[in-house]
Amino acid sequence: MPKDPVVQDGDPVLRQKAEPVAHKDITSPKIAKLIAHMKKVLAGEDFGVALAAPQVGEPLRIFVIAGKAFEPVITEDQKPIDNAAPKKSLLPDHVFINPEITRLSKKKKEMSEGCLSVRGKYGSVLRHEKATIKALDEQGKVVTYHGAGLIAHIFQHECDHLDGILYTDKAVKLEEDADLRSARVKLKEKHGV
Ligand code: ZN
Repeated sequence: MPKDPVVQDGDPVLRQKAEPVAHKDITSPKIAKLIAHMKKVLAGEDFGVALAAPQVGEPLRIFVIAGKAFEPVITEDQKPIDNAAPKKSLLPDHVFINPEITRLSKKKKEMSEGCLSVRGKYGSVLRHEKATIKALDEQGKVVTYHGAGLIAHIFQHECDHLDGILYTDKAVKLEEDADLRSARVKLKEKHGV
């Protein structure tokens, strides 16, 4: 079996507090290479919607959200009936460097989550329904995003990764799911981040 491109639960890199990227390094070849690698790993995951740098073994404060996470929800009648891989998204991936959550809604919502570093499991996590994040993009420009629903959950899940926290620390109703790699399900219902 080929080596998993995503670091799995049990590796200490997933439990350490990731370091901020120095401003002068943001546009460096090293960071550009790391981001390109993260995008490639994410693109290889049918149900992966986001990936944090520690998940590829780099304890740096960077995460990437796949373009497909920003697409409209796939409804039941649009659900493919074959077993083909989900269509590639035309929306660009978003890169977040040194992200900081600046605002959280009071209201919370429970949503099913998975994690590419904890394969074969799903669980419900109660998180803030809306989250605002401030980060630097690949050019070092300050960007602010307001996320709701799935995107807000992803922001919180990924920022947790950068602090050495896994969703399994917070999840209720953790379930085994052997199909994490191949199950044909709606992306918005089931996602690994
Ligand atoms: Zn994760």
